[in-house]
This record gives sequence, structure tokens and C-alpha cells, in this order.
Amino acid sequence: DTSVSVRDLDIHYGALKALHGLDLDVGRGEFLVLLGPSGCGKSTLLNAIAGLIDITDGEIWISGKNVTWSEPKDRGIGMVFQSYALYPRMSVYDNLSFGLRMTGIPKAEIAARVDKAATMLQLVPLLKRKPAELSGGQRQRVAIGRALVRQVDVFLFDEPLSNLDAKLRAELRVEIKLLHRQLGNTMIYVTHDQIEALTLADRIAVMKNGVIQQLAPPIEVYQKP
Ligand code: ADP
Ligand code: ADP
Repeated sequence: DTSVSVRDLDIHYGALKALHGLDLDVGRGEFLVLLGPSGCGKSTLLNAIAGLIDITDGEIWISGKNVTWSEPKDRGIGMVFQSYALYPRMSVYDNLSFGLRMTGIPKAEIAARVDKAATMLQLVPLLKRKPAELSGGQRQRVAIGRALVRQVDVFLFDEPLSNLDAKLRAELRVEIKLLHRQLGNTMIYVTHDQIEALTLADRIAVMKNGVIQQLAPPIEVYQKP
């Protein structure tokens, strides 16, 4: 049962071939980590799945639909980025609900979704605060919450923990793992941190020079030769 499929994907930035002929199938409910050195194409692949960049050639399917030419908002995905990208003038509550308010979902439904996400992410006591009044870890939880309230099948994470110190990173790693257990949705998670890959992944896609070099469970990827 496939959740996300990438077919023969090429992405060129001018003369630079960032991805070439890349194929990937992510199972429904799978936690897939994209791992590899800086510049190997991880963010390019994630942004292509999200619909944030133009693809040169190939196809992307999400939940059985060909979304190659769909707008990001129509792809049924939630994104969490490294920089929190919160609205500085809005409260945590408004940050969590803003995207939903734009879509015409009834107020009571929005309140219920925000409440659920805030509870899962321990943000309930912080709902009235502004982003400037939060710690880095709390801000990143709000960023995760904004993806959660969308109630989509697929979450895309781009190095969500790399701006945090080691202690917070470890804490949020556990929280993300728990969230995945509770929600059971598909997660595609970019990192260059081997510990994150090892602890979070069902499978790791090891990337190098724009292709997937190995796709296997952590135990196989980290096996001594
Ligand atoms: P990673 O996420 O693994 O660090 P990226 O996907 O960001 O890798 O980058 C892959 C390659 O594409 C790198 O060589 C990078 O310099 C190049 N690249 C990324 N984005 C752009 C862009 N907007 N314009 C030109 N080159 C880019
Ligand atoms: P902005 O005003 O910065 O464009 P919005 O919250 O209005 O942000 O969202 C714009 C579109 O992007 C909306 O259609 C929303 O569904 C989508 N969107 C917002 N946040 C996310 C997210 N975390 N992941 C995926 N899509 C999102």
C-alpha cells in the first residue's frame, strides 16, 4: 500500500543536475528518513514532493493521485521546516488556526483541531503567547502543530530539529516518534543526523549525488561491512 511514489524524477537547476532518474515508493504509515551529506539532493526531493519547486521530468503520486502538476495546498501534505516560519504578530492559537481559517472550515471544527494538536504537543498553556515569548523548542512544536491541524496523510519534515540544542533535539525526537505512533500517518523526514535517522526511521533512503544509493531499515544501513 503506497502513500508517496516518485517516478523517474529529474530536477535540474540550470546546468546542475540535482536529481536524476530518482524512483522512490513510501508505504502508507511509513516513517522514511532521507539521509545524506549536504548538497546530495534531500531538500530538492522533499520540495518536489511538496510541490514547491519545478520539476524537470518525472511524476509524483500522493495517496493514489498524480499530483505532479498540483498546487502544494492540493497535495494533502503538511510541512515542517527548519526555520519555524511562524507569524510573529499572531498568538500561538492564531498561528495554529490561520491556515484552516483560510479554507472555510467551521469555527468549532477549527477549535477542536487546534485543541487536539495543542494537547498532543503540550502547547495548551501557551496558546495566548506570541512566538517571541516562546523557547526554540516550543516554537518548533507550534510549527509541527500547524502541520498537524491539517489532518493530512503525509507529513514532510525538512531538518526540523537542526536549529535546536542537543537536549531539546533529543526531547523533540522522542515526541515526533510518539506522534507518528499515535497518528500512524506517512512521514518523510530529511536529516543529516545519523542518530535521528537511526531512532526515527522505519527505512532510511541514503542519498548521494542526486540518487538514492541504499534504501533499507536502519539495522541494515548501519551494519558493519
Ligand atoms: P541537500 O538538501 O541534500 O543539502 P539540496 O537539495 O539542497 O541538497 O541541493 C542539491 C544540489 O542542488 C546542491 O548542489 C545545491 O547546491 C543545488 N541547489 C539547491 N537548490 C538550488 C537552487 N535553488 N538553485 C541552484 N542550485 C540549487
Ligand atoms: P501563507 O499566508 O504564508 O501563504 P497560509 O497559512 O495562508 O500561509 O497557507 C497558505 C496555503 O498553504 C494554504 O492553502 C494552506 O492550506 C497551506 N499550508 C499552510 N501551512 C501548511 C503546512 N504546514 N503544510 C502544508 N501546507 C500548508
